[in-house]
Amino acid sequence: MIVAMQEAASEEQIQKVIERLVGMGFEVHRSTGARQTVLGAVGARREFDIRDIEVLAGVGEVHRVSSPYKLVARSFRPEGTVIRFANGITVGGDEVVIMAGPCSVESKEQIFSIAESVSKAGAKFLRGGAFKPRSSPYSFQGMGEDALKLMREAADRWNLLVISEVMEISQIPVMLPYVDALQVGARNMQNFNLLRELGKARKPVLLKRGIAATIEEMLLSAEYLMAGGNYQVMLCERGIRTFETYTRNTMDISAIPIVKKLSHLPMIADPSHGTGRRDKVAPMGRAAVAAGADGLLVEVHNCPDKALSDGAQSLYPEQFIELMTQLRIIAPAVGRRIA
Ligand code: PEP
Ligand code: MN
Repeated sequence: MIVAMQEAASEEQIQKVIERLVGMGFEVHRSTGARQTVLGAVGARREFDIRDIEVLAGVGEVHRVSSPYKLVARSFRPEGTVIRFANGITVGGDEVVIMAGPCSVESKEQIFSIAESVSKAGAKFLRGGAFKPRSSPYSFQGMGEDALKLMREAADRWNLLVISEVMEISQIPVMLPYVDALQVGARNMQNFNLLRELGKARKPVLLKRGIAATIEEMLLSAEYLMAGGNYQVMLCERGIRTFETYTRNTMDISAIPIVKKLSHLPMIADPSHGTGRRDKVAPMGRAAVAAGADGLLVEVHNCPDKALSDGAQSLYPEQFIELMTQLRIIAPAVGRRIA
């Protein structure tokens, strides 16, 4: 931690800050400049609150140098995490993995039709909500376990893996027999009880960035999963809430290279929720792969105009085919290939 004292700080104030840091277990290195004193504090426990120092008299700025997370930090596994799935597909390696499907599973016909299209186009995962986190309690809430059964059948028929969202602890045992990966949605990124339970699961988890979460908060949520013993974690940028209203969310493409530098975990991008508009999904999907994403999560519907949720951001199957064609050109330019 670096503590820059105010220029006007008195020697007494500086000494009080030093005493406080030493009391917290830090070793303090003092640098006394002509105008300003800077204190370098090293070696204490990680879980301290920098505001305890910021509020002391005479303190100008405080910067944390060591990261508050450790298991998710790149230094824990400099070579990067590669997650292996049952059918040999890996996420986090050379290949970019495409996960596609409807926002919600709505019927057998719907999910089989979409599974066929996305599989033929080259997707490796079938996505689809069984339990839906809807802003309104009157909106479609998902088909529950019936949806999971249908997804598993459709995925097996078309050689796909299954990813679906888990919203609460009681759903974990219901979902485990059907899915290959569990998705934690944006609204639950800081549901720490859910994260703790998923930390005990031995199934990959895709953790989506919260609607107003910083990158550090997302990494700390991933730390909950890893601290519980689940090292098979994927992160996902899905857009954050900003002052811009043209798009549903603002897709933070910069989060991709930032997370790839800070963490060893695979980073997926969701341009569907990231933009909320069908015509913006392909450009943002292309940008995400160019920026180094390890995979995409894309909403595709056989009949988006009739979709029970997120129709406006769901691609028509033909649009998905076109996007896959473009991604196959972009991936090699950044040293990757589409799985
Ligand atoms: C979803 O993937 O359908 C979903 C609800 O996403 P998010 O949690 O990012 O809103
Ligand atoms: Mn959706």
